[in-house]
Amino acid sequence: MASVKTILITGVSSGFGRALAQEALAAGHRVIGTVRTNEALRDFEALDAQRVFGRLLDVTDVECIDEMVAEIEATVGPVDVLVNNAGYGHEGIMEESSLAEMRRQFDVNVFGAVAMIKAVLPGMRQRRRGHIINITSMGSFITMPGISYYCGSKFALEGISETLSKELAPFNIHVSAVAPGSFRTDWAGRSMVRSARHIQDYDTLFDPIRQAREEKSGKQLGDPVKAAHAMLAIIESQNPPTHLLLGSDALSLVRQKLSALGKEIDEWEKLTCSTDGRSVD
Ligand code: NAP
Repeated sequence: MASVKTILITGVSSGFGRALAQEALAAGHRVIGTVRTNEALRDFEALDAQRVFGRLLDVTDVECIDEMVAEIEATVGPVDVLVNNAGYGHEGIMEESSLAEMRRQFDVNVFGAVAMIKAVLPGMRQRRRGHIINITSMGSFITMPGISYYCGSKFALEGISETLSKELAPFNIHVSAVAPGSFRTDWAGRSMVRSARHIQDYDTLFDPIRQAREEKSGKQLGDPVKAAHAMLAIIESQNPPTHLLLGSDALSLVRQKLSALGKEIDEWEKLTCSTDGRSVD
């Protein structure tokens, strides 16, 4: 196998995080995983006696993160790869969803991830190597009614990721935003936060979408173990991608979006360019 790496993954209790932890262990790596309950901690640590290190963390407790990472680097060793996986989906028509729900969505999906990145960066920069993988979503590119806060948070993380990849390239630190399509995890089941409905005007648009998502939960096309293998492939790569889509649904939907965006840009090109003033040299 390739070199053994120490991989820090947030949210290893289920879904992608758990699958990646298990497949990384099977490939010989060492895995530090964060969970939110003692029960999940015991369950995770039972995966291996030597190469598994569990830590309790809610990623919104951002003031604990620097200390946790410093303790990990002192006791377990330098973190080679950070995988910002912890996250959840908020579903709700925007007019019906509170600002508090939006803040929570961004606290977990964006601020938590950024706090983790800030905590590992001093060590990675000093060592002049490292890889940060942010689990975004096809919802970082495409949108649909009822997930505005989720898409907003994932667009934000995608933008931060891409910018960061440019800031960190001189230090040999890679940043990859991994954007899955629909996968068979707990995302649309126990983990999803659904705002209550109260504005009838949205019934026709949104009720079928909510119902379809509930019915599809647990039957999605994407296999998280195969996603884990794809992530291990970019971890092994000397030149990992800045963006990686996972799943044929993500591929076709994002392609459609980019093509529609290109067409709209072309259609409005004249008006777009009409705002230039005379250049001042
Ligand atoms: P999942 O099975 O629900 O797993 C989510 C993980 O995140 C769990 O371990 C959960 O811990 C953890 N988590 C949630 N909120 C947290 C917080 N505040 N602090 C720490 N950990 C927290 O769903 P998943 O699909 O694997 O989700 C992983 C990532 O993939 C998320 O960022 C999600 O948005 C993204 N994603 C999923 C899909 C999909 O179709 N499944 C598609 C695109 C992107 P608990 O067990 O304690 O709740």
